[in-house]
Amino acid sequence: MTKQEITAPADAAARRAVAPVICYPNETLPTVAMDLYHAARETAQKVDEVLVPPRDARSFTVPQGQFFRITSVEGPQVGDLNLWNAKDLGERFYSGKTRALHGTHLTAGEQMWSSFPTLRPMATITADTLGWYGIDEFGGSVHDVIGTRCDPYTGKLLKGVDYHNCCHSNLTRALADHLGVSLAEAEPHVHDVLNVFMCTGFTRDTGQYFMKASPVRPGDYLEFFAEIDLVGALSACPGGDCSSEHTSDAAACYPLLVEVFAPADGALGDRQPPAVNTYDRSHGR
Ligand SMILES: [Zn+2]
Repeated sequence: MTKQEITAPADAAARRAVAPVICYPNETLPTVAMDLYHAARETAQKVDEVLVPPRDARSFTVPQGQFFRITSVEGPQVGDLNLWNAKDLGERFYSGKTRALHGTHLTAGEQMWSSFPTLRPMATITADTLGWYGIDEFGGSVHDVIGTRCDPYTGKLLKGVDYHNCCHSNLTRALADHLGVSLAEAEPHVHDVLNVFMCTGFTRDTGQYFMKASPVRPGDYLEFFAEIDLVGALSACPGGDCSSEHTSDAAACYPLLVEVFAPADGALGDRQPPAVNTYDRSHGR
């Protein structure tokens, strides 16, 4: 078969000029009770903390109704976050659908949605000290749901090396340790992440995924309200601030701090965890 020559049709410009429509208008999403969450946060006390070492990951648990905060300490560092339902690891963060609902990058007031068939909010972002960043001149923004997670398989494919401290491997080890299971049992539960503090976008000319030095500085944080009982795992990416490369030990890396806060009894009133999605699952039969 010879290579096909593609020529643009006469009306190519007119076809390209058609205005886009939003795939998933999100005005009908359930209202997030941000005022209630912020009032409850005012009453909260710290109950736990975990320090994630550079180029490694740690797990943590957050009961529904509590808050967790991820803070940059010591130096600029991005983190790869996985979330699971603590009672059912089959329900886990769904990066792709979260992107479809909220856009390429998350900030305060937006939610991390779970996989099918539950498709419900797992966590709500309640504070983001990088919320000022917006979208820069390159189309970059922070806290993306467009990347996957750095992993040793892609590293092998592109560089021919075995590198063991990618976020995928770090998260696999952290989950295996949390569950007390083998790496092989833990690995299939690791999933596409929320790239905390990472500054990313797509190039306008080639559509390629890009990263650039994170604007995060020590003291910056992203805070979440746990909508359901959660197990989380956070990797301090070997890319450090992701200004140059990942999947190697070349970048300067720093720890990340995870803290858990419990509101006072009654601070959330009669709030209940979100129900699972009510689609009847008959799939047309
Ligand atoms: Zn990474």
